[in-house]
Amino acid sequence: MSNTKQFDALVVGAGVGGLYALFRLREKLGLNVQVLEAGDGVGGTWYWNRYPGCRCDVESLEYSFSFDPELEQEWSWPERYGNQPEILQYVNHVADRFDLRRNIQFETRVNNATFDRKTNLWTLKTEAGETFQAPVCIMATGNLSIPRVPDFPGLDDFQGDTYHTGLWPHEGVDFTGKRVAVIGTGSSGVQSIPIIAEQGETLTVFQRTANYILPAANGPMNREIEAKHKAEYRERRAAAYDTPFGIAGFPPPTQSALDVTPEERTAKYEQKWAEGGSISFLYSYTDLLLSDEANATAREFVHNKIRSIVKDQNVAETLCPNDHPMGTKRLVLDTGYYETYNKQHVHLVNARKNPIAGLTQKGIRLEDGTEYEFDAIVFATGFDAMTGALKEIDVRTTDGRSLTKDWEAGPYTMLGLMSAGFPNMFMITGPGSPGVKSQMILSCEQHVDWIVDCLDYMRREGQAAIEPTDESQHDWTMHVKDVADATLYPKAASWYMGANIPGKPRVFMPYVGGVQRYKAKCEEIAANGYEGFTFTAAKKPELALAGDD
Ligand code: NAP
Repeated sequence: MSNTKQFDALVVGAGVGGLYALFRLREKLGLNVQVLEAGDGVGGTWYWNRYPGCRCDVESLEYSFSFDPELEQEWSWPERYGNQPEILQYVNHVADRFDLRRNIQFETRVNNATFDRKTNLWTLKTEAGETFQAPVCIMATGNLSIPRVPDFPGLDDFQGDTYHTGLWPHEGVDFTGKRVAVIGTGSSGVQSIPIIAEQGETLTVFQRTANYILPAANGPMNREIEAKHKAEYRERRAAAYDTPFGIAGFPPPTQSALDVTPEERTAKYEQKWAEGGSISFLYSYTDLLLSDEANATAREFVHNKIRSIVKDQNVAETLCPNDHPMGTKRLVLDTGYYETYNKQHVHLVNARKNPIAGLTQKGIRLEDGTEYEFDAIVFATGFDAMTGALKEIDVRTTDGRSLTKDWEAGPYTMLGLMSAGFPNMFMITGPGSPGVKSQMILSCEQHVDWIVDCLDYMRREGQAAIEPTDESQHDWTMHVKDVADATLYPKAASWYMGANIPGKPRVFMPYVGGVQRYKAKCEEIAANGYEGFTFTAAKKPELALAGDD
């Protein structure tokens, strides 16, 4: 007897995308859904990333689900930006409120996914050897879910404690009295460094690339702002879809940075710096991400800020980013980051000039032979972004396609939603979509709504399977590239480009044409009977999707 468990739809991942997919597939289509989640709780990113200082850089009133007006009215965020424990609490609340846990199997890591063209079924195999089958497979596997530690020689020799920010121990870590190293100065490093500095006897930061870091200006929630926001929630959610980043409330810029006087520019940047937040700053002028000359004005402003905050001017110069236009790597929001370098026990090592050669039993050795001793090393070294999680699952079809092979030169997708050759496998915020360049919850909701409408259409039309054509996928992938090439984004060696993983193809992966354009394209395609996709008709009485209708 087969032990394979049968469902109408399988969802991999119980982060915000997976939870919303479960909710919609179950409540709107009446499907029998099974979510498979590697962790022992919901939350995805917010479940795994528990490092000190972990916080969302999108304001909490925006960074939340929009699908239930009562949910958004009843939840109250304590601060302007939600921290990790609060966001995880919120996601757990959503899981309980909508009774989602009964369809989630935790501690279940999917290793294999194979589509059979004869039966139109996906078979998912787990690490523990279980098998699940369904006509539909939704990969809600996240964009930043495969933590990466660089392949340093001697990695296993180090006798102290090691941590990765993306796999932080649930019980927390106390660095009191410890000599601590942090490697990496992206968002995770920048958020954790000020907190670790409060505990550690010494803190040494190894910085390879200096990033552009803006103040978050976090603080307790202003209850008047919250009340106003809540009163306007419906309009604000709709307005967010009409913006490039999926975040409402920022009037779009109207002027070039080069059309104003230096004094006007500085005044504008000062105002944005005081306000806090990255979108607000990028919205100073129309061309900050399009013209290097315009961008240089913002760069100079931030450099001067760093020089004014950090007392040791050698340290300040090392902290001044100089190898990429501002905003082309993810802008980082901080609370007290630059000030941390004014503390006597905090040291900065320029790992660009003098790279890390490897780990030793006692610490870290640089290429020039300098050795440092530590009790603990924190790897804030990022993720195999956007494609890593799908690569970890061996995705194949019985007619010989392999997703890893098809994506050898970079991801090929239609809208970041599907990949040709892999019918009925949907990605939530996959490469080629605005996902990581947008308010993620909004993009997850938009993707899930599109997928659910598509499945509903298929059921009505008696279709068993859908996949994009090679031609439409090629056109979309080229469009994603062309749009990025018209901006400054490809000038940075970022994880958007796969540049942080040795050997990964350098392809700019997110769609940066804006959420508003992207959503309109998705809707146009659906309105035209899923133009650019092909269907396989269901062989009656086998109907692709069961459920209550
Ligand atoms: P990241 O931005 O990829 O940063 C990794 C850091 O590790 C970089 O500074 C990188 O330097 C450094 N690094 C990697 N290999 C190294 C090596 N061999 N030697 C020295 N340094 C090395 O990763 P992250 O900080 O975890 O952030 C990833 C993304 O997650 C963010 O961009 C953001 O989208 C998201 N995130 C968001 C938040 C938030 O909402 N606030 C918080 C955390 C993360 P190079 O730059 O030179 O490669």
